[in-house]
Amino acid sequence: MAILVCGHKNPDTDTVASAIAAADLYSKRGMEAKPVTQGEIAPETKFVLDKFGLKAPEIVTDATGQKIILVDHTDISQTIDNLSKGELVAVVDHHKLGDITTSNPLEMWVWPVGCSATVLKSMYDFYGIEIPANIAGILLCAILSDTVMFKSVTTTDQDKKAVEALAKIAGVADVMALGMEMFKVKSAVDGATPSELVFRDYKDFDMSGNKVGIGQLEVVDLSMLDAHKAALQAEIEKVKGQEGRHSVFLLLTDIMKEGSEMLIASDDASVVEKAFGVKPNGKSVWLDGVMSRKKQVAPNFIKAFEG
Ligand code: MN
Ligand code: MN
Repeated sequence: MAILVCGHKNPDTDTVASAIAAADLYSKRGMEAKPVTQGEIAPETKFVLDKFGLKAPEIVTDATGQKIILVDHTDISQTIDNLSKGELVAVVDHHKLGDITTSNPLEMWVWPVGCSATVLKSMYDFYGIEIPANIAGILLCAILSDTVMFKSVTTTDQDKKAVEALAKIAGVADVMALGMEMFKVKSAVDGATPSELVFRDYKDFDMSGNKVGIGQLEVVDLSMLDAHKAALQAEIEKVKGQEGRHSVFLLLTDIMKEGSEMLIASDDASVVEKAFGVKPNGKSVWLDGVMSRKKQVAPNFIKAFEG
């Protein structure tokens, strides 16, 4: 039975591309593996897979009795259902270590870089296995996506070097043009419901016993969202009212202005000022230079909830 390679819930391009690459790499190492996702892929990811002629992985959401490799996360709240009823054999990630645990030894490839795809690129090199051109293409796009074309504070030199090498393998001449094309697809909001937009890139966190949701929409120009803000605010208020959540925040990230407007739905909005040192203007606040949920927003809120 093939090992299932799983990314996180609400799959993004890195989680899908890294699952596809890890399945290829582990299979070539003699451990038959197949990529799966925890839900429908996002428009950006569809664009990337179509561009390089790859299919979306099958949706499989139960780990019971399966061997599992996790990519791009280690939090139980973000992972495949019943992970503890399967056997975790490897992790490839670039986030803070979450709360998964194992009863057997496992492979851990967890590096502080901008993208899981960067780790995968190094793994191919480590094992001396050639990266197929189409997989190089999707890994390259994953790095551009996660690092917001190298503008995010999460970007490392390793990410830039990986993109350079992957572009050669994939035959991509103009990396930044491909990145802009991809972000334009990601920015498309018309025709999507408020719920689809809030959950397009959304994660729940446990912060000192409080359930806190943080969503993020990255656009090439924030004014694209003007007509949607009221509906998005109403939607996060609704989501906050569900599953005992303390707060739901939605980051509207302008990748050209390099900052985020954050919409706020909270039982105690003072955590926002505690976390970022700026007072919200009603139910939203502009956070200059804040583009990364993982490195900037989540850690600041975790600290604010602690004290
Ligand atoms: Mn991800
Ligand atoms: Mn990632």
